[in-house]
Amino acid sequence: KMNIPKDVDFIIKKLEENGYEAFAVGGCVRDTILGREPKDWDITTSALPQKVKEIFRRTLDTGLQHGTVTVMLKHIGYEVTTYRIDGEYKDSRHPESVEFTTNLIEDLKRRDFTINAMAYNSKYGVVDAFDGIGDLQRKVIKCVNDPEERFTEDALRMLRAVRFSAQLGFEIEEKTEKAIKKLAPTLEKISAERICAELEKLILSDNPDKLIEAYNLGITKVVLPEFDAMMECKQDTPYHMYNVGEHTIKVMENVEKTRVMRFAALLHDVAKPDVHTFDTRSHFKGHAIAGVEKANKIMRRLKMDNKTIGLVKRLVACHDDRPVEHGRSEEKVRRSVHKIGKDIYPLYLQLVNADFAGKSEYGREKGYDDYLYVVETFNKIVDEEQCTCSAELNITGKEMIAMGVKPGPKIGDIFDRLLDMVLENPQLNENEKLRELVLKFNA
Ligand code: ATP
Ligand code: MG
Repeated sequence: KMNIPKDVDFIIKKLEENGYEAFAVGGCVRDTILGREPKDWDITTSALPQKVKEIFRRTLDTGLQHGTVTVMLKHIGYEVTTYRIDGEYKDSRHPESVEFTTNLIEDLKRRDFTINAMAYNSKYGVVDAFDGIGDLQRKVIKCVNDPEERFTEDALRMLRAVRFSAQLGFEIEEKTEKAIKKLAPTLEKISAERICAELEKLILSDNPDKLIEAYNLGITKVVLPEFDAMMECKQDTPYHMYNVGEHTIKVMENVEKTRVMRFAALLHDVAKPDVHTFDTRSHFKGHAIAGVEKANKIMRRLKMDNKTIGLVKRLVACHDDRPVEHGRSEEKVRRSVHKIGKDIYPLYLQLVNADFAGKSEYGREKGYDDYLYVVETFNKIVDEEQCTCSAELNITGKEMIAMGVKPGPKIGDIFDRLLDMVLENPQLNENEKLRELVLKFNA
């Protein structure tokens, strides 16, 4: 007996009362057996979409062409999909047609992996025609039926295999793995949006190191060739013990599981393979700046949202900043906060900390005290509400104009000079003192 939400049970029972079969199916069954919280509950039924629409009061036509109707209960949507047989696949992406069936097993057969091909309702219990439970126990990702055939139908399944192995900490079964090695190049036919959705789930999982497996299987070569370059870029410096790709994984493991932080970690060193000159810290000189444009290109290609792209670019740009490496002062930290931005400064600090964690012991120790000083000073700057940008100056442009400053570029010049002085000495950020300075600068 499985514990399923009341509303899911209600939908299933209601379909049964009307003479149809219905089951919870796929990810929700897998996750419930594993004791994980399912993200959403999908239902599969012998009822045709039109019947589902007649039986429930509030429904949305979300995917009628593939047999999906969303049933709304208390503002939560449940996808109810008619048992389906996918027609012939000709392009490694879509079936030519779909056909409805009244046989549950036929519907389970079209699903990608054995652990995703189980159904449940309280009348029949778990329907497990492909030993999904056994594979959950063995912790393996295995195709339903012949892997080569299944990946030829839909190439995205290869990336999904690695994604599930990352989310669940499972291994990919041998034959499934062999088929991926052979067919990985066909991922080229899959749209950027579908690739990105799976890649993101992989990277945001507990096991982002599975990206290395995607590399070994030839998947990144197609969907993220820049990662291949990282894996093939050695770092012969005293600071590192990993190649750029392995180091990148360590950094990902040490930042929080958010889209911005995981992508910033993934892309922070993306341009290192292109840069071969070194600075005094035997760093790849200028790689952070080169990385911004390269990261931008990758994220645009993956059709990511503008907000994420903007934040990730800013983090890549600043990740190598070491504000006090030539001597400590609060002023230097204030100037760094000004340059990087107060909004993302905590993220910058998190990324730098993770970057340290991914270095050699020598690299970890070198400069870490300075880093801790920067953290402490940043906290003080926030606590004391110190000014780090012109918007935080205790004077406005309007006031300056009222004092006789000519509107135009002069205002900006004065703001810059005031901010420069306040960054040096926070005590100057008082309206009266600033007005005095404005009169002087305007004279
Ligand atoms: P998640 O928890 O990430 O949502 P999920 O298993 O629910 O995982 P979905 O992508 O939501 O994954 O798909 C729901 C179900 O539909 C899967 O469990 C699987 O049975 C089936 N499925 C999804 N995509 C494919 C595909 N490309 N090929 C075959 N079956 C698929
Ligand atoms: Mg799902």
